[in-house]
Amino acid sequence: MAVNNVQTYLLVAPAVIVMLSAALFIVWRLKRDQRYLLWMGCALACMGSALIFQTTLDQIQVATWSVLTGLGYLCGAWFGALAMGSIYSVSSHPRLGAAIGLTALVMLGYFSLIKDDIVASVHVLSMALGLIQVLPAPAILRQLRKHEHLEIALYSAYLLFCFYTLSRPAIVHAIGYAELNNYVYSQYWIVTTMSSMAFSLFFTFLLLGCAVKGAVNKLSDERDHDPLTGLLNRRSFNEAAESLIRDRRLQPISLLVGDIDHFKSINDSWGHECGDMVLQNVSLAMMNNVRNKDLVARFGGEEFVLLLVNSDIERAKQVAARIREQVSANAAGLPAGKPLTISFGVTVLKFEGNLQESLGQGDKLLYKAKDSGRNCVCVDPDVGFLAIA
Ligand code: GH3
Ligand code: MG
Ligand code: MG
Repeated sequence: MAVNNVQTYLLVAPAVIVMLSAALFIVWRLKRDQRYLLWMGCALACMGSALIFQTTLDQIQVATWSVLTGLGYLCGAWFGALAMGSIYSVSSHPRLGAAIGLTALVMLGYFSLIKDDIVASVHVLSMALGLIQVLPAPAILRQLRKHEHLEIALYSAYLLFCFYTLSRPAIVHAIGYAELNNYVYSQYWIVTTMSSMAFSLFFTFLLLGCAVKGAVNKLSDERDHDPLTGLLNRRSFNEAAESLIRDRRLQPISLLVGDIDHFKSINDSWGHECGDMVLQNVSLAMMNNVRNKDLVARFGGEEFVLLLVNSDIERAKQVAARIREQVSANAAGLPAGKPLTISFGVTVLKFEGNLQESLGQGDKLLYKAKDSGRNCVCVDPDVGFLAIA
């Protein structure tokens, strides 16, 4: 298995593929939640090592070792499909993929060790690789978010790679079958190694882009949301609300400021963990009573703010009353029979008005509700009427 000069040059492309797989493994070690980096690393490692091994073989050895090299390529395709499925959270049909792979290995064994038909071996391998790769494609298409450019670029590259693999029998036909008799020195082999390297480079850059984007999204999600309840925090609420109040189509907009009654005594009597559970369940009651475009935020402690778009004061009052009723009916998280109540101040946000002023007004109304005995909704008198419900 002595390696000559030409083979040394031919080893550059697969060596680059193995290095790319190492890069993916390193990034995966840092971001273990992004499993697709691990799977694509495995895919490139299998493919790269099989290419390296095959490049060092002479013509007779290519046939002798074709089942082993085929196994490397098939594992590469299987891991590649797993990576794509994992990015878009869909199944890559691993069992079906393994069955296709095993069938191809048996056929490869037959065409290389028994019948000695290299053209058939190449065709069987190309079809099996293409089929394994393409297995998650329909499910990914259903998941694809049209506005995510990186996802679209990755999916397009992946489809192109599947198409290229499946069309390799035609490429071999175009290059000429005689070439295959001098396998690793053929144009076919150069096209194979170079295109594998080009696709591997492209995939690695796109996947690293996805990893960076995933990390940035996670950070901004953590920056914008309260970790206990998953609601918006004060900062992200202010940011989102400022843009909503400038949209005439969303008028009228109302504002609800809510605060759990005697929450300190819940903590004191039943412990902080029980208090946390109450906060989570109250948040859930709020989320269950709003629409998609509405905002729900935890402003701190046991104080919540809701912004309801296309909602007049009457609807806002109804939503607050419904949350209040559900909170006290469930007493969620508390030992049986223990009361849980919440009070609300409700006002309307003027078009392009001052958000902080309206929040202040909501706060005042909340204190009025507290003064009126708690467990009630106090509506802005300037907007319609003063009502304690
Ligand atoms: P009021 O009816 O007047 O609103 O009385 P209150 O006891 O609800 O209000 P107060 O402001 O006196 O107490 C709020 C308590 O909320 C005090 C604090 O320990 C508790 N708290 C703040 N943040 C958290 C949290 O994240 N988890 C838990 N369990 N408690 C919290
Ligand atoms: Mg309170
Ligand atoms: Mg409070």
